[in-house]
Amino acid sequence: MDRTLIANTTVLDGSGAAPFSADVLVEGQRIVAVQRGGGLPRDEARVIDGAGSTLMPGLIEPHGHVSYPDAPSNSAFTSLPPEEHVLITMRNAKTMLDCGYTSVLSGASAKPRLDIVIRNEINAGRLPGPRYLANGPEITVTGGLGDENELHLPHIETPTFAWVADGPDEVRKICRLLVREGTDLFKLNVSGHAGPPDSRADRAVMTDAEVAAAMEIAQASGVRVCAHARSADSVKMCVRHGLGIIYHANFADEEALDLLEANRDWCFVVPALGLSYQACYAGSDWGFTPEVVRARGLMKQLEVSIDTMGRMRKRGIRVLPGGDYGFAWNPHGTYARDLLLFVDVLGFTPMETLVAATRMGGEIMGRPTELGQIKPGFLADLLLVDGDPLTDIKRLQDRDALLVIMKDGRLHKSP
Ligand SMILES: [Zn+2]
Repeated sequence: MDRTLIANTTVLDGSGAAPFSADVLVEGQRIVAVQRGGGLPRDEARVIDGAGSTLMPGLIEPHGHVSYPDAPSNSAFTSLPPEEHVLITMRNAKTMLDCGYTSVLSGASAKPRLDIVIRNEINAGRLPGPRYLANGPEITVTGGLGDENELHLPHIETPTFAWVADGPDEVRKICRLLVREGTDLFKLNVSGHAGPPDSRADRAVMTDAEVAAAMEIAQASGVRVCAHARSADSVKMCVRHGLGIIYHANFADEEALDLLEANRDWCFVVPALGLSYQACYAGSDWGFTPEVVRARGLMKQLEVSIDTMGRMRKRGIRVLPGGDYGFAWNPHGTYARDLLLFVDVLGFTPMETLVAATRMGGEIMGRPTELGQIKPGFLADLLLVDGDPLTDIKRLQDRDALLVIMKDGRLHKSP
């Protein structure tokens, strides 16, 4: 069996424990030994010298959009021909792994089968990429986020990057279709976005019956559900229906926070700070001028989000980095900026941030006992980082600092 020994390294095991020096042995796809102080036998193993470096679990992105092509608008996603779109998605999957992200939970796919075929190719070992939970297109209501149909255009039934469903029967139909195609997740746009022109970030746009219909199909089919939910009522609706992967949650009020705290053993919040932050501070080349940012309420939305996430942190609600990368102003390859934002903007400690990106990442992937930590029996998804990401979290944005990237016990990058 293939054996790799990472010797004499500093282990940051993802659990939240202080780093310690150790040897770590990988056999096949799993970690089989973690020897504090070192001293594991080196025979019959490929030995990697980890001196001066930190060995940590691979990073986990819980709001990935591998098929989003760094385009400046949602309509540009739709107009991309499928041939080019597949190639772009393949490249993005490799980029995620090159950046140390060994697992991705997809927050939606730009075309119905893009996530699914790329996941299948990765799982078959034919394509480099992270472990991947595939999603379908965003499911939205008429006039909701992603409904970019225009009444005067001839093809109003052609799906955009979101699929429009009104009423529980239409939601069931789309969900069943996605199950048939092989999706791991559904994405519901439960609240509006930011306005104007779409000014419903502060309220739910889906009905209880529509959310319940998606949950009914999900539970019957073993599929999980995530939601775009910015408003307080949309967050409460998610929790009430057992929908535990909640994106944004900017306007969660005290009642929503109480509900999240009471259900924190199965609920996750992913603010997707990267996208909003970049729009507010670095998006002027793509139309997010200071005037537009103000007029659309984006700065207010970001400020509220920062306050809300701080309150969630104090309540012990799991808040995970992961930032909606795949737009022109928030491109692929910059994912680890979200870790810095957790520290600099949200006030999380570097340790809290890295636990959220590793151990809690394993939890949101649905594999808490085998993913996201360095322990015997866990899957060998590992990063060897030159230096110490706890004292300098920006190290994780530097691809040259990632000396070793291992997924499933196989080296994607060697020193
Ligand atoms: Zn997203």
